[in-house]
Amino acid sequence: MEKLKVKIGLEVHVQLTKLKTKLFCSCPSDYRGKPPNTYVCPVCLGLPGSLPKVNSKAIEYAVMVALALNCKINRKVMFFRKHYFYPDMTKNFQITQYDRAGGAPIAVNGYLKLSTSDKEKVVRIRRINIEEDPGKLVYPTGSIITSPYTLVDYNRAGIALLEIVTEPDIETPAEARLFLQKLRSILEHLDVCDCGLEGAVRTDANISVAGGGRVEIKNIGSIKDVEKALMYEILRQKEALLKGLSIRSETRHWDDVRKVTVPLRVKEEEQDYRYFPEADIPPIIITEEFIEKIAKQMPELPDERLKRFQREYGLPYYDSSVLVSNKKLADFFEETVKLYKRNPKKVANVIINDFLRWIHEKGLELDNVKAKPKDIAELLKLLDNGIISIKIAKTVLPEIIVSGKSPSQVVKERKLLKISDKQIIRQIALKIFREHKKAAFDALKDKKAINYLIGQIMKYTKGRADPAVTGKVVKELLTDLKEGKLKL
Ligand SMILES: [Zn+2]
Repeated sequence: MEKLKVKIGLEVHVQLTKLKTKLFCSCPSDYRGKPPNTYVCPVCLGLPGSLPKVNSKAIEYAVMVALALNCKINRKVMFFRKHYFYPDMTKNFQITQYDRAGGAPIAVNGYLKLSTSDKEKVVRIRRINIEEDPGKLVYPTGSIITSPYTLVDYNRAGIALLEIVTEPDIETPAEARLFLQKLRSILEHLDVCDCGLEGAVRTDANISVAGGGRVEIKNIGSIKDVEKALMYEILRQKEALLKGLSIRSETRHWDDVRKVTVPLRVKEEEQDYRYFPEADIPPIIITEEFIEKIAKQMPELPDERLKRFQREYGLPYYDSSVLVSNKKLADFFEETVKLYKRNPKKVANVIINDFLRWIHEKGLELDNVKAKPKDIAELLKLLDNGIISIKIAKTVLPEIIVSGKSPSQVVKERKLLKISDKQIIRQIALKIFREHKKAAFDALKDKKAINYLIGQIMKYTKGRADPAVTGKVVKELLTDLKEGKLKL
């Protein structure tokens, strides 16, 4: 049963949030947080007689994404009407693209390379469509299952979306996560989508186990949830197969509160959508010059940036790949290195091992971390200059992440300065020796007891005693004790 073949394909809906206006009208696109149904006009409400007009910047962004995903770009792009009857779409059709009936999506046949721990994996991209986002259904109790009624907000209707569809080349939930992380990093490097915004990236995941029916899990909001939903589905389908049941093709909903998938409906067939050409929008011709011009302006992408990090900062592959997996993290690293040039590897270590761990532990995202690159640089300088110990640095870091205070402010407020005065450490050490007489005498011949005494001094000073000075003082006191110059 373990060896059952799993095939996963993803359909990722990416809002082009960096566009100022919607796809077919001049309504502003920053609808988030605005009063419902205020960012609308006759076009995005689909009122009779209104005519859509294509946002040319959206075509430009789509070509950029297509080039980054190694796609073939079609030279003649047409829009189609995809009919369905649902309250989130006032026209009862969505303007999208179609790859049959003489239609062609903007781009096809691309690929994205993923590096997993043991191999390089290629995930083929089947196509990229440009389409409009529907309005947003709002469930007053927060859930489609429990809400007694539904509200609809058309501020989102007509926002430009790219639908990026993969071939079913993905074999594990972890690969799906890697794919989405890399795609997100590419979109952010292209500066076409701020993927951290609520609802900016929504994924439908198709999965079939051992040749069973194809199950589609709709509208998953986060990368983590895509991985969880797929893990849940694999288990559910394997269990059913073990019981001798067959898996039927259906659409399921990921309940991110209960962490389960639930059936929504039996899947529509394509003919149910009655696609036909959108006669109000003439075909768009994409010329060779247009593509070349965009290709020349392409920004640095994650794969190139990874290589540059290795070359320019001397970082190992692993460090570079963790940093570029998230554009904001890579930017944070480079900003910090500008302020602390002497050791980029040290900056990478702090960011990857400590900074990220604390962000994760505090349940934060990089966006709402209060610490700035200058704070990390300052922390490293305090450490280098012997003003704080490594132990103190590790207690200061989580505080600056949450509070936004500078490291020196935290050190001052909490009286965390390192104690390197030998006389002070000697007095403390004597106190510890007297309180732990047995350990002190054991330490004359037992290394473990020496470490115990040093540990007690560190505990007493809450980690502020300079380790080098402390070691020296303890050694001197033990010599005195051995030679009878010290009485306890
Ligand atoms: Zn509008």
